[in-house]
Amino acid sequence: MALEKYQNLLFQKIKKQISQWFEDDSHDFVEYDDVYRFLHSIKGTSGTVQLGGLFLVSSKLLAQLEAIGEGQWREFELREFLFELISLSYEYEHFKETELKKEEPCCGDIPLVQIIDDDVSMLILLKEALEEKGWMVITNTEPEKAVSQYYDLQPDCLVIDVDLPAKNGFQLLEDIQQHNHKQFIPKVITSIQNDRKTRINAYEMGADDFIEKPIDIEEFIVRINRQLQRKQIFDQSVLIDELTQVYNRRFLFDLLERYLKDFERSEIPFSVALLDLDYFKNVNDTYGHLTGDKVLEIFASFLKENLRSTDIVFRYGGEEFVVLFPRTNDEEAMAVVNRILDQFSKIAFQEHDQSFNISFSAGIYMVSKPEEGSLDILKMADQALYEAKENGRARVESANEAIQPVNNILNVSVIDDDAIIRTLLVRVLKTIDTGKVVLDIESYENGEKFLGSGRLEQKGKHFLVLDGVMPVMDGIEVLTKVKNNVNWGQVHVLMLTGRKTEYDIARALKLGADDYVTKPFSITELQARIQRLIQRMF
Ligand code: GH3
Ligand code: MG
Ligand code: MG
Repeated sequence: MALEKYQNLLFQKIKKQISQWFEDDSHDFVEYDDVYRFLHSIKGTSGTVQLGGLFLVSSKLLAQLEAIGEGQWREFELREFLFELISLSYEYEHFKETELKKEEPCCGDIPLVQIIDDDVSMLILLKEALEEKGWMVITNTEPEKAVSQYYDLQPDCLVIDVDLPAKNGFQLLEDIQQHNHKQFIPKVITSIQNDRKTRINAYEMGADDFIEKPIDIEEFIVRINRQLQRKQIFDQSVLIDELTQVYNRRFLFDLLERYLKDFERSEIPFSVALLDLDYFKNVNDTYGHLTGDKVLEIFASFLKENLRSTDIVFRYGGEEFVVLFPRTNDEEAMAVVNRILDQFSKIAFQEHDQSFNISFSAGIYMVSKPEEGSLDILKMADQALYEAKENGRARVESANEAIQPVNNILNVSVIDDDAIIRTLLVRVLKTIDTGKVVLDIESYENGEKFLGSGRLEQKGKHFLVLDGVMPVMDGIEVLTKVKNNVNWGQVHVLMLTGRKTEYDIARALKLGADDYVTKPFSITELQARIQRLIQRMF
């Protein structure tokens, strides 16, 4: 229909105004009259070009504006005020009206599937199919990146294509398997070769299932679902962490509940310590993940041997451990953990010809109020841990002394040339529930501005939402440059790509992007996805 052209003109106009107001640094304030004119003209045009939703929203905002009356708008207030209109015009621009109401993705414990295959069209197909089931999927074409992502994000199921060119899929399976036999994660092998030898080989190497290519998607989903169920049953029935042979996180929460009940009766305080190895990523990067595993095993057994027999050790996750000190106040717990830290830091780990030491930081919290829940307790210990890290690591802090809400910071950078998308993403990011993680959000309209801003030098983890298609320097070029930055190990990248640009997806994954989303995206879906990625990162 001819209307489309006029609708597009309207979107362009909205975009231009938004970028002028919110991204041009010269504006701190926007005048009432300007906002009025803007809304008024959208109301007029949208009605004419049959954008009903936009008409309603602009009319509503206009009425609200009149009710608020004359005066200046501060930039962030105006952005908030106009948000509904901005997001609606984005959705209109990219989706037909009938498509607008998509199902909300559900939340909670969403399983994470990691797929490793060098065939990008296959990756895209499988990812879409599994994501439609509501699962989260990360994909890799490069074995090396796959291994580090596997350790970083701890998937619930692995799908490996064994016909990888760079590193044979079996080799990759073996690398992962050495860790994996101590940590149950189902592995599904796919292959174009379906001969007896390949199948036997796969099962011998620990595969839980073997799926021949070409893949029947419906059957694939059923078989992956079965593996995820096995994993869930396994997780629920197990109380000991396989790798380190200490209690796992699930049992920690069971036990904490019991301790809290006891406390209500006895009123004798107990303490909790959260221990996190310092710069552990460096150990993995320098000596390999298997050495990292060994350090974790040694750390856990060291803790068991050197604590009092009544203290209980748990693996909280990754390189984090919890110690529960029954009938112990924070001062006593502090003394014990300091002693342990001193002893442990002196251990010299040998790897080939090299020797290295490793320390940990710890946060302690003493439970002395009956109304506390187990999550609150760990949150407090985590805040003290964060302080210990901030204060230079290799030290112990107590949350009971100075309770300040300090948090982990994640630097989030949005790099996209489309002003609407930038505004939208910033707002979406702001509303994400990230738990203990505080987001420091910045947006950039192109790669040069981002790279020139010194942003990546900011310490801590980085999360980039990077548009693949931009004028001058496209997302792939930006990613190439980012990859050469010293901080690359701390950077997670979500690429936004055009729907049919398989080539770009392939390049992005090769360069180490962690995930991609095809444009146009549904806002709720993107929000859920970013939220899950962030939760997995910490
Ligand atoms: P910080 O001093 O701030 O704690 O730095 P860090 O490097 O220890 O912290 P970060 O959280 O960035 O990295 C933790 C790493 O632990 C990332 C992940 O790859 C690794 N890891 C998690 N679980 C395992 C595991 O089971 N085995 C091995 N080898 N590494 C693991
Ligand atoms: Mg950690
Ligand atoms: Mg650490």
